[in-house]
This record gives sequence, structure tokens and C-alpha cells, in this order.
Amino acid sequence: MSSSSTLTELKSQLRGSLIDRESPNYTEARKLYNGMIDKRPLAIARCCDVADVMAAVNCARENKLALAIRGGGHNGPGLGSVNDGLVIDMSEMKGVRVDPATRTVRVGAGCTQGDVDHATHPFGLAVPAGIISTTGIAGLTLSGGHGYLTRKFGLTVDNLLEADVVLADGSFVTASSDRNADLLWALRGGGGNFGVVTSFLFQAHPVRTVFAGPIAYDQKHAKMIMQRFREFIPRAPEDLGIFLGLKTVLSCDPFPKDHWGKGICLLMVCYNGPEEDGKKALAPLVGELPEPWFNWTGVMPYPAVQSMFDGLYPKGMQWYWRGDFVKTLPDAAIDAHLEQAARSPSELSLMHLYPIDGAVQRVNGGATAWNCRDATFSMVIAGIDPNPAKAAAVTQWTKAYWEAVHPFDMGGAYPNFMMDDEGEGRLKATYGSNHARLAEVKRKYDPANLFRVNQNIKPAA
Ligand SMILES: Cc1cc2nc3c(=O)[nH]c(=O)nc-3n(C[C@H](O)[C@H](O)[C@H](O)COP(=O)(O)OP(=O)(O)OC[C@H]3O[C@@H](n4cnc5c(N)ncnc54)[C@H](O)[C@@H]3O)c2cc1C
Repeated sequence: MSSSSTLTELKSQLRGSLIDRESPNYTEARKLYNGMIDKRPLAIARCCDVADVMAAVNCARENKLALAIRGGGHNGPGLGSVNDGLVIDMSEMKGVRVDPATRTVRVGAGCTQGDVDHATHPFGLAVPAGIISTTGIAGLTLSGGHGYLTRKFGLTVDNLLEADVVLADGSFVTASSDRNADLLWALRGGGGNFGVVTSFLFQAHPVRTVFAGPIAYDQKHAKMIMQRFREFIPRAPEDLGIFLGLKTVLSCDPFPKDHWGKGICLLMVCYNGPEEDGKKALAPLVGELPEPWFNWTGVMPYPAVQSMFDGLYPKGMQWYWRGDFVKTLPDAAIDAHLEQAARSPSELSLMHLYPIDGAVQRVNGGATAWNCRDATFSMVIAGIDPNPAKAAAVTQWTKAYWEAVHPFDMGGAYPNFMMDDEGEGRLKATYGSNHARLAEVKRKYDPANLFRVNQNIKPAA
């Protein structure tokens, strides 16, 4: 069948829309969050229900089309799209149903994190996820998901109770602890390798207002702050979500003009509880530090801190990422960080260290596919700039920074902080002893590797 008759047939089967290269909204619809990636799929199937997803999966398999699954489109290397293939775009499958009695939340796979926070906040509940509200809940969840609530309540995958999935053969299954438990195990960290998730069931937790915000110090104090941070984290109360960043003060309002363009060491905090308790929790760390350039902590609704950075990172900028899991942070590693951070090619470029402790470490490494639970931090280096002419500069800086600090780090990295040029060895190092088991589950549910536009786990031979 020709590609145009294939697409015409698929279109007739969908309740949602099929956007092809002739459609007036094709250019807009194919844009990804990372402006550095420019893919031209054959068509984008904007599915609006499970039947649409089944039709699109069957179409791709029967016609041997490369297939990508798009949630929020935030993936660094743009794995939510594919050249010359079919994209299953979930962005219209957005329903959220909160059950306050069980504190569980059923989430359509097209939701962003912000959609989930919006729906759960009136119930005084939240699902642990990441720190930018426009990120898709699907891609974030399937590779792990960490953010401010992680130390207390675990990764997003640790709160995933059930998922509805369309498999490679077009059939529909539910993965839970008593139905297709091997599939649920794999979905809890193994990425988009096993099928198209159409909805998630999450455990939520009590979260209302938080004491949160950024505290920024002159980067000349960063060595001491990183040393104190390293000692502080294992003793810090788990209600305190916190990450450390090496960044630059942006040359725009509302940032203090005197410091525009200067390097900072940032502590971004989010305490789930009253302000007095949050200040008490932070005191052993910040009490001994010099005066910050600015301290914008305050009491706010949880969705406010979740969307605090959205405006600084709009869709379409140039991004190149590298990550690593970090076990210890010796002084020599801190020195390497500071040397590289000082060479930042743009004001938006950053390095963040997110704690991976508390509730994450109380789960056994083999209990979910996400097994790097003996790490202390998940580290990301991101070269970012709005100007396409700076794409090479932010890429080179990120790679050089990563090369300099990688010898101090563990072998693997958070898959959601990987690009697509890091090789299979990195994924094997990340999944460790879980990699072989993931390959077995892959063989059972997707033996022909239909779902391969992702951080790919090949079916076991
Ligand atoms: C600005 C920014 C901030 C971030 N902050 C955090 C953070 O704080 N914490 C964190 O953990 N991560 C964070 N991330 C990383 C984020 O988790 C990944 O980029 C993730 O891939 C985004 O998911 P998405 O659905 O938006 O991506 P997409 O590009 O839509 O999809 C990514 C991949 O997920 C898979 N996928 C998507 N939907 C489905 C589905 N329905 N079924 C099966 N597979 C699917 C596919 O394999 C696809 O290739 C951040 C990313 C950005 C850009």
C-alpha cells in the first residue's frame, strides 16, 4: 500500500486528527520542546482515545512504519518524534480523576505535570514528579521521575500503581501488581519500550502550601556550599526537597541588576510543611553560609513552585544534556565542576544536583526497573540558549563539562537526562542487573522492537 493510502485509511479509523505533511498545522504540530531537534514525520496521529491508539499501532506495525510516542514532547533528544514515520501524539488524552478516599489519581497519558498538579491541588494532594510544569507526565514517569517530593515520597515510578497499555500487537492490557506484573515492573523505569501507555494510576500524597523558592549565592562561595550540601543532605528532614545548581543570574527582571550575568550557586528549596519548620530544616545548611545575593523563599501553593521556572524555559530553545548518577562528591569533583561552570556559554546553561535518597533508597533496586537507588544525586548538565547559532557552543560546553566530572561519577545516568548519542553501554550501566530482565520483558511484549524510538532496550535473543 502507498503511504498516502495507508494514511487515508488510518485517518478514517481515528476520532482524533491525522496531521500529514500537507496539513496546514503540520509545521506547528511537529515542533518539539528542544529547538535543536527538527524531525519530519510522515504523519502525526493525535489520538483521543484508546481505540485511536490501537488503530495507529496496528497501522505502524502492518505497514512497517517507524513509530514514535509523544507525551509532552520534552524529551532532550526528541524521542517523541521520528523522521519519515508515524507519531502517536497523546496530547489530547488529558483526563484526570482524583479519588480522595484512596488518594489515588487516574491520569490520561497526554497530561503535563501541570495538568496533574492542577487537578490534585484542590484535594490537598500531589503526585511526586519533576520541576517544570510543562513536562509530559508520561515520558517523565516511564523513565523514573524525580522532583521536590522525591526524598519523602519516592520517584514518580514508585507511586505508579497501574497503567493501561496498548501493546505492539494492538491489544490492550492493564499492568498492575496482580495483572501483568512483569509489565508494570518494566514500566517503572524502563521507558517507552513496552507499549503505548494510555493512562496511569498514581498514589498521591498530602501536599498543600509549601515553603519554597530559590536562594542564590555568589559562585565564589560554591566550593564551601557544595561541601556543606554534601554533608547536609543525608541528615536533612525528608520533607525538605532541595537541589543545588551552578547557574548564572539572568540579565532581566526580576533579577537584581547588580548581579546580572554573574555566576551563582543556587539552592532551590521546597519544604512540604509550615514556614517555621522549613526554616528550621534549612538552618543547619544556610545558617553558616554567607549572605545570599537573593533569597526568594516564601509560602506558596505547591503548583506555584512547580511552575516557577516555566517562563524561563519556553519551548523551542537549543538544549543539549548530559547526566550522571553521583555517589560521592569529593573535593576534586567539586573543583572540576567549578572550573567547567565558570566556562558556561550562556546565561541559561546549568548544572543541577538532585538528591536521590530517603524514600528512593527504601525501595530495593530489583523491585522496579529503575535500579540506581544507591546513588546520592542525579546530576544534569544542560547547555541551553534561545539562539540557534549557539547550538554548537552549548553542545561542546556540555560535553566538555561532562568529560571533566564523569570520572568521579557512577557508570549510569537518569535515562531522561540522556541524549541519543551515548551508546547502549550507558543504558546497560544505568540498568545494571535489571537490564537482562528488561530485555526478557521486551521480548515478551514487543519481540519485533516496534517501540524502538526511545532509550532502546533490545528484545532478548
Ligand atoms: C525543562 C525540563 C525540565 C525537566 N525537569 C525534570 C525533572 O525535574 N525531573 C525529571 O524526572 N525529569 C525532568 N525532565 C526530563 C523529562 O522527564 C524528560 O524530558 C521526559 O522524556 C519528558 O517526557 P515527555 O512526555 O514530555 O516527552 P516526549 O518527548 O513526549 O516523550 C519522551 C519519550 O517517552 C516515551 N513516551 C511518552 N509518552 C508515552 C506513552 N504514552 N507511552 C509510552 N511511552 C511514552 C516515548 O518513548 C518517548 O520517546 C525535564 C525536561 C525538561 C525539558
